[in-house]
Amino acid sequence: MKKDLAEVVICGAGIAGICAAYYLSVKQGVKDILLVDERAPFSLTSDKSTECYRNWWPGPGDAMVKFMNRSIDLMEGLAHESGNRFHMNRRGYLFVTAERGRIEAFKKAAEQPCALGAGPLRIHETGSMTYQPSPVQGYANLPTGADLILDPELIKKHFPFLDNKVVAALHVRRCGWMSAQQLAMYMLEQAKEAGVRFQTARVEDVEVQENQVQAVLMNTVSGPLRIDTQCFVNAAGPFVKEVAADLNVDLPVFCELHDKISFNDNLGVIPREAPLIFWADPQRLPWSDDEHKLLDETAETKWLLEPFPSGPHGHPEGGSGSHIQLVLWTYDVEVMEPVIPPPEPDPHYFEVVLRGLSRMVPGLRAYFEKPPKPFVDGGYYAKTQENRPLIGPLPVKGAYVIGALSGFGIMAGCAAGELLAAHLTQSELPDYAQWFLLERYGDPEYQKLLKDWDASGQL
Ligand SMILES: Cc1cc2nc3c(=O)[nH]c(=O)nc-3n(C[C@H](O)[C@H](O)[C@H](O)COP(=O)(O)OP(=O)(O)OC[C@H]3O[C@@H](n4cnc5c(N)ncnc54)[C@H](O)[C@@H]3O)c2cc1C
Repeated sequence: MKKDLAEVVICGAGIAGICAAYYLSVKQGVKDILLVDERAPFSLTSDKSTECYRNWWPGPGDAMVKFMNRSIDLMEGLAHESGNRFHMNRRGYLFVTAERGRIEAFKKAAEQPCALGAGPLRIHETGSMTYQPSPVQGYANLPTGADLILDPELIKKHFPFLDNKVVAALHVRRCGWMSAQQLAMYMLEQAKEAGVRFQTARVEDVEVQENQVQAVLMNTVSGPLRIDTQCFVNAAGPFVKEVAADLNVDLPVFCELHDKISFNDNLGVIPREAPLIFWADPQRLPWSDDEHKLLDETAETKWLLEPFPSGPHGHPEGGSGSHIQLVLWTYDVEVMEPVIPPPEPDPHYFEVVLRGLSRMVPGLRAYFEKPPKPFVDGGYYAKTQENRPLIGPLPVKGAYVIGALSGFGIMAGCAAGELLAAHLTQSELPDYAQWFLLERYGDPEYQKLLKDWDASGQL
């Protein structure tokens, strides 16, 4: 067996592993890091995301808001130093309702993240002149918090493509999207310049003696390889639980498959400059009488007539000249073992999302007769029960985890990598660090908190 040495071995070169490698090498000066992945970097889950970010997170406590604010600060810093190579924008998320009865819930839902540090809440009643729209590009010197627009004329003026029955729009401001691939490649290039090596290999086992990491055993195309190291970082994404089992550590993580759709909006129904739009009302999908009759005939299609939850959402993707819209709706996710490639998406998925979105954007009905051909892909959210990440040391000395990044790994990657690097180099930790440790589950107070935990923050 071939042998080598490394100061740190990181298993997984998705956003988690790349950010860990970057903050360890470029920011903390760790010299000899081996980043290992059995696939090309950034090719399993991290390139399937919708690439969005937000500082809009529920409690309990302000850990998630602080963590995301920190991550966005770091991303803005990288955008600034790179001339915004990864096209970070700050168009915001627009939550929309046509139900008057939901306005109070919108206010309540907004008050919590605002009070936790997401920024102020500004309410715009009829005649308000103070709403500041988001620019199409750029991220600097813009409002934080949220604008709750209750004046239908103001909504129509700024978002004329929305249904005219819309009565409230909550525009959350420290949010937007970027090219996650470009961000990751920028960080990986710098990490490599700072000495990080990349190895294509599958990690098969971690050797532990006297509860201390000794070596990582892997398979490469040219055979088995043993890396002697005292430090192992598990950044294996959907396989974080499986890799932790090599250390005899059981992580409380499960996986859900999430699919996203891209389609060509050739008719230009959703303007290219739109923010991320999210329909907050539960609904029944719009079908014609004939369609309704047909769908009602068989058990396989009857469910399409049932009520659907809130949540179809999407945003324009790509620069000028692009017609692509990314859209998704998590109406029926299930816990499952991660298998690669993931199971085929439901053949009705695009039609469901298109019809669901048409409640918010009636212009999309133009596609009902002849829908454009969608491209559907997806990946696994690796999650803890309360939808918070695992970042920090494991019970085996020299072993660390950066995972369970669920549907927020792109936006959280920088703060997660920075936090992992701080743990590993025994640097000062931010106060949110304790909320993401594996050992939190051993705390009876935390267990009590988990019993009443109601908000996951997942869209
Ligand atoms: C449809 C969808 C939409 C999303 N939208 C957003 C969004 O808008 N914003 C956001 O912030 N997040 C979003 N996410 C979530 C985000 O994509 C994930 O949280 C993130 O990519 C997880 O990164 P990771 O590095 O932990 O995992 P991965 O990207 O899966 O990387 C893990 C790597 O580990 C490697 N690996 C595993 N086991 C081994 C082994 N034994 N040996 C060697 N290598 C191994 C794998 O090959 C893989 O490359 C979305 C996800 C999906 C699926």
